Amino acid sequence: MKSNDLFKEKNILILGLAKSGEAAAKLLHKLGANVVVNDAKPYEENEQAKQLESIGIEVVCGGHPLTLLDKGIELVVKNPGIPYRNPIVREALHRGISVVTEVEIASLISEAEIVAITGSNGKTTTTTLIYEMLKNGEREPLIAGNIGTVACEVAEKATDQEVMVLEVSSFQLLGTEQFKPKVSVFLNLFDAHLDYHGTKEEYGLAKAKITANQTESDYLIYNVDDPIVRKIANDSDATLIPFSVKQPLAKGLSIQNEAIYYNGQPLVQLHSIVLPGAHNLENILAAIGASLTMGAKRSQIEHVLQTFSGVEHRLQFVSEYEGRRFYNDSKATNILASQKALEAFEQPIVLLAGGLDRGNEFDELSSSFKNVKALVTFGETKEKLAKTAKEAKVERIVFVNTMEEAVQAAYDQSESGDVILLSPACASWDQYKTFEERGLRFVKAVETLQAASKS
Ligand code: ADP
Repeated sequence: MKSNDLFKEKNILILGLAKSGEAAAKLLHKLGANVVVNDAKPYEENEQAKQLESIGIEVVCGGHPLTLLDKGIELVVKNPGIPYRNPIVREALHRGISVVTEVEIASLISEAEIVAITGSNGKTTTTTLIYEMLKNGEREPLIAGNIGTVACEVAEKATDQEVMVLEVSSFQLLGTEQFKPKVSVFLNLFDAHLDYHGTKEEYGLAKAKITANQTESDYLIYNVDDPIVRKIANDSDATLIPFSVKQPLAKGLSIQNEAIYYNGQPLVQLHSIVLPGAHNLENILAAIGASLTMGAKRSQIEHVLQTFSGVEHRLQFVSEYEGRRFYNDSKATNILASQKALEAFEQPIVLLAGGLDRGNEFDELSSSFKNVKALVTFGETKEKLAKTAKEAKVERIVFVNTMEEAVQAAYDQSESGDVILLSPACASWDQYKTFEERGLRFVKAVETLQAASKS
């Protein structure tokens, strides 16, 4: 950790606990700040708050009283999920108090240089790829952010002999002021989270903060095929490294002659890559660009591409059973993610989809249904998905209630050579706590199906 007095004696309000708030509170307390923690959950049920109190941190629970700001608060560290329209956030900004997220604190104290990854889709996959590619290189990688350990905790221990590979969401980026990664990766920008950000422009502006403080000695790896990303890159002061899966590039990363090219030179043959899906090729190009910039070995990059078959719940290969290949893409919580998954296969697909109804229709999915021979659907959106499938001339549609029924129905609809794909195109919260729980239920149901036939 950089030795600094940045936070010493400062009056800091931590708004919203969860993992990131707790880590920030502990760290800032250790750095000599006067920390007040404020969480909506009532004190009696709030184990985290009680624990922080036991180490001498002041906690206020059960609401967000505006009077908290009267105590000379100089900085608010906000949980990324708390919207800016929240009255206490508004009031803090009105009073001219900085409102930041925990990644800002992490970036200020980290001795390790940061590779930050953002985009609407593909963050976790790309972050994992970069982390794997940097192993055995000049500096050891540390993985941080939404994907695993909270950024503050990693930053506290990180040294300049390491590199912090940090996944950052638009919510986190919005709360940054001096955040300055050595390498930023900007994957794409789709219509996601508009309920929080309002317009696509505002969402883009939040993401653009990933490069806002970068200078010529920093790098921005960006998807030149995405018009908004391209525009943000053109406005950046960082050294630009573009990537494209659509056009050959003389500078940067692209696909030519069935190989990945970097600055006009072939680097890896496409046939040696295990990770399925055209969208993952984008993630791979971005990851190669970032890891090479940070001193990754070519042999390590090649090894990762030959062995890495996907992050859990993201088009993850589960198993093969009687000629059917099962894939868990539970993380596909929006239409676009499921489109990408469907486009990743040439074989006939039995699709398992459905979940929380956010009020949207699924018309855009129909063009990706060409290899779908059967739809097994569940959750609040099953009628809507069935309608889209019918319009796309999907031959068979089956309604089910549970994941176990879904897997059995999918198997019944399939034959050897087919792909059975869970890619719900919806959030999981109507039936499950998280998309991870949904994915694990799928994997378990696949195991049960296989075990049943053996017994
Ligand atoms: P994130 O962390 O941004 O949510 P993930 O790597 O977890 O991204 O992938 C989530 C889903 O998004 C995957 O299941 C896949 O279907 C889709 N996806 C991944 N990478 C891309 C990409 N580059 N472009 C479009 N969709 C993608």
